[in-house]
Amino acid sequence: MTSLYFKYAAMNSGKSTQLLQAHYNYIERGMHPVALTARLDDRYGEGKITARIGIDLPAHTFGRETDIFEFIREQGKKNQVAALLIDEAQFLSEEQVFQCARVVDELNVPVLAYGLKTDFLGKLFTGSEALLRLADNIEEIKAICWCGRKATHTARISDGEVVRAGAQVAIGGNDMYTSLCRKHFVSGELGVQAKKAGRAA
Ligand SMILES: [Zn+2]
Repeated sequence: MTSLYFKYAAMNSGKSTQLLQAHYNYIERGMHPVALTARLDDRYGEGKITARIGIDLPAHTFGRETDIFEFIREQGKKNQVAALLIDEAQFLSEEQVFQCARVVDELNVPVLAYGLKTDFLGKLFTGSEALLRLADNIEEIKAICWCGRKATHTARISDGEVVRAGAQVAIGGNDMYTSLCRKHFVSGELGVQAKKAGRAA
């Protein structure tokens, strides 16, 4: 059965690496997957999905105005779309998640959405909340806290401290975010590396 998948995690779980692997698996079979990422994350150049292990993939981008259903229908005129792979899926709007569901149900194209579940305050992102409600298949990709427990939260750090207020979206890498278990997210206790990174920033 064609499905809408939501694969979520905290930062540094290897989400993008998994996306790139899935993409490669389709290519290897001579199929045409479509890769999509959020336009606002241009840390590595716009329209590129970069995995921390050092490989990257050119990708289409989505913004607020993008109609995902129409986009995939257009793509399908060129080649049969084997799958839609979305990185940074937390930035989808609720409407766009419904469009992803229509891609699955009406175009019969599987959608694999990868994203963060919660923001730096521990609240659900809009896209993630909608995906948790609508996805057929939900999978947690595990990241690890500095203490060795499963990291369930992404904390924003500044000057070696966990930030507790600010805008939901502030794009940054390991100098700005770290993955923590619930206990350390709540207490704000950081590992040595994150403390250093926060200071250097
Ligand atoms: Zn911990």
